[in-house]
Parts: sequence; structure tokens; C-alpha cells
Amino acid sequence: MSFELTILGSGAALPTGKRNPAAQYVNCNERHILIDCGEGTQNQLRRFGIKIQKIRHILISHLHGDHFFGLAGLLSTMNLLGRTQGVTLYAPPLLKDIIELQLKASGFYYQFKVDFVPLEMTSMQKIMEDKLIEIHAFPMKHRIPTYGFVIREKPRERPILGEELRQDGVSLQAVPFFRKGIDYKDEKGKLFRAEDYTLAPKKARSYAYCSDTAYYEPLIECVKESDLLYHEATFIERHKDRAKSTLHSTAMEAAHIAQKAGVGKLILGHISSRYENTDPHLSEAKSVFENTLVVEDGMSFEI
Ligand SMILES: [Zn+2]
Repeated sequence: MSFELTILGSGAALPTGKRNPAAQYVNCNERHILIDCGEGTQNQLRRFGIKIQKIRHILISHLHGDHFFGLAGLLSTMNLLGRTQGVTLYAPPLLKDIIELQLKASGFYYQFKVDFVPLEMTSMQKIMEDKLIEIHAFPMKHRIPTYGFVIREKPRERPILGEELRQDGVSLQAVPFFRKGIDYKDEKGKLFRAEDYTLAPKKARSYAYCSDTAYYEPLIECVKESDLLYHEATFIERHKDRAKSTLHSTAMEAAHIAQKAGVGKLILGHISSRYENTDPHLSEAKSVFENTLVVEDGMSFEI
């Protein structure tokens, strides 16, 4: 089962030659998810070899242009390529009006269904669930309503110890229970304990995305113990006033969230175009949370 993240855009508001605006692609157990869709995202998908038509879920954190200006182009390309499979769009409610107005003005309509899930929550909520994964959204602190996301695998099943099962003559009817960690009683009332016939399950993995936000401690609970946390680090400490007034974070603030949430690894992005060199971001963050990296467009991570 794969759980992979590809950074499509690691920059903030102004695109540069090196950094496209915000967008990420996640493949979680063959669920293909796009997070944010800054201008040029469809080109980045091509550039990094990701099949556009595989994308089935699109999560938009907020309606600042650097997080969604690429959406109309991407949906239009999906349509031109003959897409019939639907897309589910999770975004602040006004995005529905924006898309509908664009379609109305152009006289074009998509040949596939766009299901719209409005994000309006005031606390963490599950927005998507199937057999293998779930996605949660939670509010962050920015100039307009903005949401973070956690993509999580469903708890894994316990591997069965077949030999032990046979030796003790346990009924095969017990297997589905054991896989879920539930003990089994046979017709005669004899109890078989799940832990005697299974191994501990592999840990269910999770990825958390926080962009854009000021330093905001309620995020700690939302992203707690994620294997990988992406947190925006638009600024460094020298420009802390600017971070405060625009409701963005510094690299060090991001590291405090990572450290307090006990995540496995922290990756930083949404880097302001004023910085040519991100060494200060890295060293400031590492002084608080060692396992940190500043991302670049095209980087991939196995979660
Ligand atoms: Zn923003």
C-alpha cells in the first residue's frame, strides 16, 4: 500500500522560476488527492509525471489566489481530455459560485460531475471516508476562512498466524474477528483470544497539511502524532512582524507546532519569494525540531 506525497508548488503568493504557488499531490492507498491548486498546477502535474485524470479528490484550503487560481484550468483540461468520472471538490462555499460564474461566462460545461463539499467547520471534522482512508479538515488562523487537512489510513488489520490457528483447530469463522482484534467464542462457548492468533497491526500512517496560518496552538491537537507534517513557513524570525500582520508563520513557529504535536517529520513550504536562500528557515526550525526539511517543487516523500 503506497502513501506518497509530491510537492507541486512550494512558493507563496508570487510565483518564481524556482517555486510555483501552492499545490501538492497525494496518493494514499490508490486514492488520488490534490491539495490546493495554485496557478500552473496542471503544468506541474505534467512536469512531474502525474496523471491528471487519476485525481478524484481536490482539497482547497482557502480562496487566496495562490491556492486556487489553477483550478479552472485544471478542470477545463480534464474536460478536454474527455473525462467522464466525477471529481469531489472540498472548499470554502464561495468557490462553487466562482466556478459556476466562470462556466456561465464561457458557455462551456464539464462532461463530468463536480460534487461540492463546502468547508465551514469550526472544529476538526471528517469530510471523506471509504474502506481504506479518511480525510479530516480543521480551521486555521488566517485573514479569510482557511482549513488544514489530515489524510489518514484506516486502522490496519492484524495479520493472522495461520499455523497457530490450524494447530489449535480454531474455526475459520474466527478469522474476520481476529483481523479486527476481536476475541472469538465457538459454539461450545470456548474463547479464543485474538492476540494469540495474530500479530500487532502495522501503524496506520497519516499526513497533515497546514497552509496558510499564523502560529495557532489549536492545530497541535489536530495534527498530533502525524507521520509527516507540512506547515507553512512564509517568513523567518527577522520578518516576524510581517508574519504577524499577514497571519502567516515563521519557520520557528512551524517547528514549535511540530514539536508540541510530536510529529515524525516536519516539512516547510509556502516560502516567500523574498528569500533566495532558505538556510535560515532550516536552521531556525531545526533549533526547535531537528527532523525538518524545506521542500522544493518536485520533491517526493514516502509517508
Ligand atoms: Zn493565504
